Amino acid sequence: MLPISKMAAAVQPSATLAAGAKARQLKTEGKIVFDFSLGEPDFNTPKHICEAGYKAMLDGHTHYTAAAGIAELRGSIVRWYKRTYGYEFSPEQVIVSNGAKHSLHNALAATVGPGDEVIIPTPYWVSYSDLVQMTGASYVLVPTSEESGFKMTPAQLRAAVTPRSKLVMLNSPSNPTGSVYTRAELEELADVALETKLGVISDEIYEQLVFGSAKATCFATLRPGLAESTITISGVSKSYAMTGWRMGWAIAPLPITKAMANVQSQETSNPSSISQYAAIAALEGDQVCVETMRQEFEARRDLTCQRLRALPGIRCPIPDGAFYAFFNVASYFGKTLKGRKVTNSTSFCAAALETVHVNLVQGSAFGVEGYVRLSFATSRAQINQGIDKLAEFLQC
Ligand code: PMP
Ligand code: GLU
Repeated sequence: MLPISKMAAAVQPSATLAAGAKARQLKTEGKIVFDFSLGEPDFNTPKHICEAGYKAMLDGHTHYTAAAGIAELRGSIVRWYKRTYGYEFSPEQVIVSNGAKHSLHNALAATVGPGDEVIIPTPYWVSYSDLVQMTGASYVLVPTSEESGFKMTPAQLRAAVTPRSKLVMLNSPSNPTGSVYTRAELEELADVALETKLGVISDEIYEQLVFGSAKATCFATLRPGLAESTITISGVSKSYAMTGWRMGWAIAPLPITKAMANVQSQETSNPSSISQYAAIAALEGDQVCVETMRQEFEARRDLTCQRLRALPGIRCPIPDGAFYAFFNVASYFGKTLKGRKVTNSTSFCAAALETVHVNLVQGSAFGVEGYVRLSFATSRAQINQGIDKLAEFLQC
């Protein structure tokens, strides 16, 4: 008999990927599903980026590359941060991985282990807790609330620090809430991190998807010396509609990038050579595609929030970034909807999927009860039809 390790036994399947798989299954059974589960752009990758991938194949860039990624792409990443934030670092401080999720794994694997604590404000992206656990470290959740805009205060961060704390994980713009910390709010968190000698993993994957007057901030640049204790995570998946290409990166102080590259070299070797060339085209090419998609996401955000806010018993804060509405459905708990008893976010989502084929993700997967997440990375027609169905579901 084959054993299952303690680590693998403790890992939960990704709730977002599981929700996406459920919708796919129903679709193969011929059902019409209004799928708002997966957080991935519905747009195809822009043509010039696909062409760069195709050209890379024809040019013979089909071999192993340096484990941390090709010099050209690491150079493109260096230039992008200098151009965008004035953040300067060397190409050796960049490590390219198979998606930002892999970058997060490598960052955690290189920095923490048994006995260490990682602070995570809730609601948090589903994978953070399991990725921490896989290293043997434990996570400490800091609950935030709708009233505080789902943002952790400096006092909360300070109170969560113990002698075992090694890292805090920040994510602005946030998945699942769409909250965007202001520069001033992040500066205050940065000061606590510096005072308490806490390392920071700043997941900035939604940085190019901000709405209205909201602005993304590159955390590492906020204070002199802060980059020495920060790992910046980002990638092309969301901004360039490249989820399937699996391209993410981390920027860190040299000893950390070196450790991450060692982990990666033993684990997966290099990320896909073809995707790396496509990512260069994404970062160096025409950026109009990013703005076009951002504008469409903003229009969908407005539509989604306006429609959800018109539903009885729903509270929907307006997200300032990413492509998720995280709305409160707790007033329906204890009620029977379409013949199904709803007691929490999980039973709410299960009932909505089974009865009206609207696929949402339960708030509990993100560490908070009472809410559900709707990804509006789908067409306006789908949003309208799906919310019509949701309205039908809520008529108890
Ligand atoms: N961080 C956050 C907050 C995310 O929502 C996601 C989801 N895709 C990732 C990281 C991982 O991105 P990737 O697809 O590049 O692995
Ligand atoms: N991050 C996306 C989401 O939250 C994609 C799924 C995943 O990587 O877990 O839906």
